Amino acid sequence: MPIYEFQCQECGETFEELVLGGRVEGIRCRKCQSEKVRKLMSACGFKSEKGFVSSVSSGACSGCAGGTCSTCH
Ligand SMILES: [Zn+2]
Repeated sequence: MPIYEFQCQECGETFEELVLGGRVEGIRCRKCQSEKVRKLMSACGFKSEKGFVSSVSSGACSGCAGGTCSTCH
């Protein structure tokens, strides 16, 4: 899953976002809605994915972890 961790340049908030097709434009800070966010390269991996899966466990299948793939419905 293309889940990356971002950090807001405005307020310093860090958050994880699902990035489809490598597109990061349009991603905003969850706290202040600023678009000045940068991708944290070191965090794009398994640690983030585990946290993401546990937070959206309802409705998600093992294939997509987000409840949005074709096998979920
Ligand atoms: Zn922010």
